[in-house]
Amino acid sequence: MDKEIFLCSICNINSGTCNEDCKFCSQSVRYKANIPRYKQKPIDTILQEALTARDNGALGFCLVTADKGLTDKTLQFVCDVASEITKVAPELRLIACNGTATLEQLLVLKDAGIKAYNHNLETSRDFYPQICTTHPWDERYETCQNVNKSGLVLITGGIFGLGETQEDRISMLEALHSLNPTSVPINFYHHNEALELEPNPLNIDEALELIKLTRKMVPNAQRIMVAGGRDLMFGARQHEIFAYGANSIVLGNYLTTSGRMMSQDLEMLESLELEVAKKVQ
Ligand code: SF4
Repeated sequence: MDKEIFLCSICNINSGTCNEDCKFCSQSVRYKANIPRYKQKPIDTILQEALTARDNGALGFCLVTADKGLTDKTLQFVCDVASEITKVAPELRLIACNGTATLEQLLVLKDAGIKAYNHNLETSRDFYPQICTTHPWDERYETCQNVNKSGLVLITGGIFGLGETQEDRISMLEALHSLNPTSVPINFYHHNEALELEPNPLNIDEALELIKLTRKMVPNAQRIMVAGGRDLMFGARQHEIFAYGANSIVLGNYLTTSGRMMSQDLEMLESLELEVAKKVQ
């Protein structure tokens, strides 16, 4: 079990504005989920969130937008936000998560101080058309390839509990391995009543085994991160994720759902005698 745990905080710098139809995503405008919707979060609010994350031990700070991909306007906004955060919290490792991106766009982000790009494959190539019909899985894979070409650090993972088979999970993990990511965020579907998808059928033991399988099948990844759905999936047993291979978690709130208090996670790590990573390996 890794003794150092990497903490990452995510910030939805816009929210609930996406026209795509990903069936697991409450940020799609199609499902009318009861979530906050805005085009741009005020920069002062973002800076405050960045400082809070840093003061609680987060090393990573991820700027997330809810759209299929980067428009010129979004790209400029992410760059502006990155440069403002760098001024007040240069210790934070800035991550962008803005959907599909071209190599040129990624190079612009890199110049603005972004160090890593997160774009998830979500599930297997075969299962993907059942959860999204407005863009193909191949576009997701291609964006990840662009990230590798750009020299940014690649963060890519997926989501379990969408109704996929074990073969789909293995296929997704093989695809992730082929991209050689530095970090693999795994999410567990958090059902929202506005979404058509059935609730996540996984039980805790199955979910723990999926963390172990991810670690085994993407062995070169420096970090296996348990991201969205951690509290709902594991509840009082979430301390067990580290013994199964996780060495990174999202600190604080998720994109559209609340996480635990940051202090609760820090207490959990302390009680397990795990240390908060102070630098990126
Ligand atoms: S593209 Fe991203 S933000 Fe848009 S619906 Fe799909 S998962 Fe949600």
